[in-house]
Amino acid sequence: MTTGLRIGQGYDVHAFQPGDYVTLGGVRIPHSQGVRAHSDGDVVLHALCDALLGAAGLGDIGMHFPDTDPRWKGADSRKFVRHARSLLEQRGYSIVNVDLTVLAEAPRLGKHRDVMRANIGEDLGIDVERVNIKATTSEGLGFIGHREGLACHAIALIERSAAITPA
Ligand code: MG
Repeated sequence: MTTGLRIGQGYDVHAFQPGDYVTLGGVRIPHSQGVRAHSDGDVVLHALCDALLGAAGLGDIGMHFPDTDPRWKGADSRKFVRHARSLLEQRGYSIVNVDLTVLAEAPRLGKHRDVMRANIGEDLGIDVERVNIKATTSEGLGFIGHREGLACHAIALIERSAAITPA
């Protein structure tokens, strides 16, 4: 039996630097630190892009949006997500669901989670119910626990429609 299902995984890290907000899931969240990044440093959307690209066998975010390219300086990472979606759609894939785990001691995502999900659902063209966002601390251990940076893991399931599936 063949299946059109593909799964992909992504991971991203950004270091904290002096600042007063972080951008996660396209939401600017007030925080006592900022992140060091060429783009907006949105670990959630970067991990998500890698999961999507990975599922479709399309490499990684660095290949599509090199951080040496001035076009992506300070870029809104939602652009990356929409581009990744279009690459998948061009190949006949639709997105089934995505699941994201943010690793950070702070900020807390609680009240921002619904907006993050809505942003991602909108950019991927899927129902919010197919976008899950989890958060965990690192119990004070390692670079996350020492508040040196934050990270995100992502998983994406995609499906190739039967009409376009090659032999
Ligand atoms: Mg990144």
